[in-house]
Amino acid sequence: MTVPAAGTRPAVFLDRDGTLIRDVPHLGDPRRVELLPGTGRALRRLTAAGFVTVLVTNQSAIGRGLIDETAYRAVGAALDTLLADEGCRLDASYFCPEVPRGADRTVIEHPDRKPGPGMLLRAAADLGLDLAASWMVGDMVSDVLAGLHAGCRGAVLVGAAPAGAPPALPAGFVRTAPDVAAAADLVLASLRTDAPSPQARPGDVRTSERSRP
Ligand SMILES: [Mg+2]
Repeated sequence: MTVPAAGTRPAVFLDRDGTLIRDVPHLGDPRRVELLPGTGRALRRLTAAGFVTVLVTNQSAIGRGLIDETAYRAVGAALDTLLADEGCRLDASYFCPEVPRGADRTVIEHPDRKPGPGMLLRAAADLGLDLAASWMVGDMVSDVLAGLHAGCRGAVLVGAAPAGAPPALPAGFVRTAPDVAAAADLVLASLRTDAPSPQARPGDVRTSERSRP
């Protein structure tokens, strides 16, 4: 297999809970994994269009000791099976077990925990992704911000709008969609309508506190 040169492949980064599967608090039981409507269609279409699909998920339940990594991986295996049944897959998967310290989910407390961009940046290095042509899809503002901080092309917020005003974002960076299939449609539509896109500018965002070394 030929490995493409670094930084050439567009990706769609996808949140897990509340985006691809039903959000179950502290999910450690693979029998409770349930795909949300549209997940299979979204992944099939994104893969067919040449996007690398990458799961990026905060799993503070691991850091809190509520589930262990074995349970997390069992859930992941169940998800993979359900996706295979739908004729699709995720190309890679990253999780962050860090526990949040504060209540503000727009503040980067750890480089890997969304809204930090660490998982996306690591995936980009591992998989040779073109971040400026990539998208982040999730159900939380922290997902959107992770995409922004990683230098993604844009983000799609799925599901019901989160409570509270979103932080200041560059114009046009975030779009909204009822589910991940509609989010995929927006991403694919951008391929047809985009001129070469401006990069997100993290410095424009009031809340873009970088994690401290
Ligand atoms: Mg989520």
